[in-house]
Amino acid sequence: MKIGILALQGAVREHRCMLRRLDVDAVDVLNPGDLDGINGLILPGGESTTVGKLLVRYNLLEPIAELGRKGLPIFGTCTGLILLSKHIVNSEQRCLGLMDTYVERNAFGRQLASFEADMHIPVLGDQPFHTIFIRAPYIYRVENNVEILLSFQDKILFAEQDNFLAAAFHPELTEDTRVHEYFLSKIR
Ligand code: GLN
Repeated sequence: MKIGILALQGAVREHRCMLRRLDVDAVDVLNPGDLDGINGLILPGGESTTVGKLLVRYNLLEPIAELGRKGLPIFGTCTGLILLSKHIVNSEQRCLGLMDTYVERNAFGRQLASFEADMHIPVLGDQPFHTIFIRAPYIYRVENNVEILLSFQDKILFAEQDNFLAAAFHPELTEDTRVHEYFLSKIR
């Protein structure tokens, strides 16, 4: 199995380390040709307006959207969650628009801009997961068959729809491999 990691900006190395720990091959995606033969794709955190522009500049936006529509499993963290969404509040920024989710960026205000908390996420088992939020977005509305995997104070923070998985937090910054394993289980 080979997983691509979008490497235009952001927490690429951390996702690569996580995949290495799980004994999975990773390839950095910088050009459309890097998408050949991958079984899944990770969209790391970063700055979504920048990544959206770079996706266009590097001719990756349409090829990735097309692969997603054809069923390629894609996992987005934070900025990746924003890029996967069809609707972004007050923004004209470019995105892949693959999930029926409505998101608001930087939604936790200044005081809570970055925070950490142990959350119970049923699909990951009984042990709480240490969630790390960094100027995180949240999903405020879903349509169709989007499944909510974690919500907190009316904010949806982890969701999936068919071949797509989106987290507002950063599992790659923890030692806990369960979210990545959950993504890989969607491929296997
Ligand atoms: N605030 C960033 C954005 O809007 C997301 C932050 C992150 O990926 N950690 O893209």
